[in-house]
Amino acid sequence: MRAIYPGSFDPVTLGHLDIICRAAKICDSLTILVSENPAKNNRLPVDLRVKLIEELVSHLENVNISTWSGLTADYAKKNNFDLIIRGLRGASDFESELEMSQVNSALNGIQTVFLMTSPEYSFIRSSRVWELMEFGGDFTHFVPANVAERLRNF
Ligand code: ADP
Repeated sequence: MRAIYPGSFDPVTLGHLDIICRAAKICDSLTILVSENPAKNNRLPVDLRVKLIEELVSHLENVNISTWSGLTADYAKKNNFDLIIRGLRGASDFESELEMSQVNSALNGIQTVFLMTSPEYSFIRSSRVWELMEFGGDFTHFVPANVAERLRNF
């Protein structure tokens, strides 16, 4: 199966990386699809978000990275992907993820497979990293070392 894992990855966190490594083990190939959508007001530019992920996955032979500014379902159809991977942290993710998976299925019949968060990462989200940075909190346990290093100088 060829899968895509779409998201903003603004920035990529230990929670994302855990999903990437686990998905790579169960799919033949995994494309991390980094959203370029300017309407989402991402803090890090897309090329930096991609670079940070590249540094983390270069040892994973069946993982590659792409960027896209349109609908995930369109990208999946255009490139003949079999499924979408998403992560679920808990009930707060469930409703929006359910809806999104149903929209993607209605658009082109693509299925979404959900991987449950690992307990040690269930509270990690990109927006929280920025909150911690803003108030001088220690965010280094939330992100891989290369991301922490880059954010310190941001
Ligand atoms: P989006 O902007 O599309 O919500 P994100 O970059 O925030 O993208 O997240 C991409 C995917 O990774 C989503 O499915 C999200 O639920 C999942 N995810 C994010 N953080 C975690 C985590 N700590 N554990 C498991 N899944 C996660």
